[in-house]
Amino acid sequence: MNEYDSERIYDMAKKINYKRTENLSEADCYILNTCHIREKATEKVYHDIGRIKKKFRNKKKPIVIVAGCVAQAEGEILLNREKYINAVIGPQSYQKLNETIINIEKKYKKVSSTNFDVIDKFDTFNSIKNLNSKISSYLTIQEGCDKFCKFCVVPYTRGPEFSRSINELVDECKVLVNNGSREITLLGQNVNAYNFDGKRLSDLIYEISKIKELKRIRYTTSHPIDFTSDLIDAHKSIDKLMPLIHLPVQSGSNKILKNMNRKHKIEEYLQLIKKLKKIKPAIRFSSDFIIGYPGETESDFDQTIKLLKEVEYINSYSFIYSPRPGTPAAKKDIVQESISKRRLVKFQKIAEEIKKKYKKSLINKKSFVLFENKVRGEEEFFGRDEFSNSVIVKSNKNLIGKIESVKIIDGNQKTLFGIIDNKLEKDFAA
Ligand code: SF4
Repeated sequence: MNEYDSERIYDMAKKINYKRTENLSEADCYILNTCHIREKATEKVYHDIGRIKKKFRNKKKPIVIVAGCVAQAEGEILLNREKYINAVIGPQSYQKLNETIINIEKKYKKVSSTNFDVIDKFDTFNSIKNLNSKISSYLTIQEGCDKFCKFCVVPYTRGPEFSRSINELVDECKVLVNNGSREITLLGQNVNAYNFDGKRLSDLIYEISKIKELKRIRYTTSHPIDFTSDLIDAHKSIDKLMPLIHLPVQSGSNKILKNMNRKHKIEEYLQLIKKLKKIKPAIRFSSDFIIGYPGETESDFDQTIKLLKEVEYINSYSFIYSPRPGTPAAKKDIVQESISKRRLVKFQKIAEEIKKKYKKSLINKKSFVLFENKVRGEEEFFGRDEFSNSVIVKSNKNLIGKIESVKIIDGNQKTLFGIIDNKLEKDFAA
């Protein structure tokens, strides 16, 4: 989501004559777009500002703005502690960015914009053409969260659930496709909670699937409790909807899920997976896991391992629990570090084995790859298959923007290597 926001911030800043530079020592203005989910996010901001200070030790000070969720959560503290920062702007106040920069240019005054003006933000974004021309683009359709999982800062930093209008999203998709995008990933903190005047995520996917040149649609991140039957059906009826679903579960133990306030049980989660598999057997899953959440016993952890093995996630993102200031879980006693570390090592070892087995099963099979860019010179192209696996093939013909049938001949944990097979057999033009 920050990647989408950063692109839109750039589109906005162009209006007041700023342009991107690769040479960081010549920048007049730095905007650090931050993510508060990451551990030690605030420390990273201070660290980055330290690096900027060093670069500009003997030069005119650039404008420094901290944007994103760290700004939202800790804006005033940042401004008070680090005098080098000119402004903090929360994620729902980007519409004020140009005005903020101009004010700083003129008066050099500190600014804090951390209101939740999400409607205003997207009205401003809508008025500025999205210039992104990547083959695979992001599009934020929903922001905020009403779920209040006890470990998470998002409801406090991004505010309540908000969905953009279906018309403005279809229009923005058309702009992206006209710019050259062939794949769009719909983004939301709770993407499947999307609801605009009763129109759900499945309605939006159906609408944008009608855009002829758009070949692939993905969405992330889903909450299991918002996975309604219309979305399950969309996976059957919309060919352009890719078969990899990121479905965070966090833990395999009902006790821990309850403590986290995740609002679903493992049995319901597995039932959902079963329904999706039934409707489309090719569907695979990825997920997020928190290891060592307060109160996690050996038996709770074993249930997480059992779930991991049962679902055979092709990608598992796992982290040791670390408290986020201001969240209810931050007041709980944490599991001993050595125990959490041991559990994480065990979890990741099994997750890697599952992934290895999966990647091996792709060798000598055919994949459909959408190519995004060239790598290492003229003859190699990078793309992704339907499950978002990275694939590299050699070709002397320009493959960028094309979906080709590829036979996978080799691979490692990160990348698959293939050769262009015969002609594309599948009709993606729906
Ligand atoms: S549903 Fe996701 S974004 Fe919302 S509180 Fe829970 S973890 Fe955070």
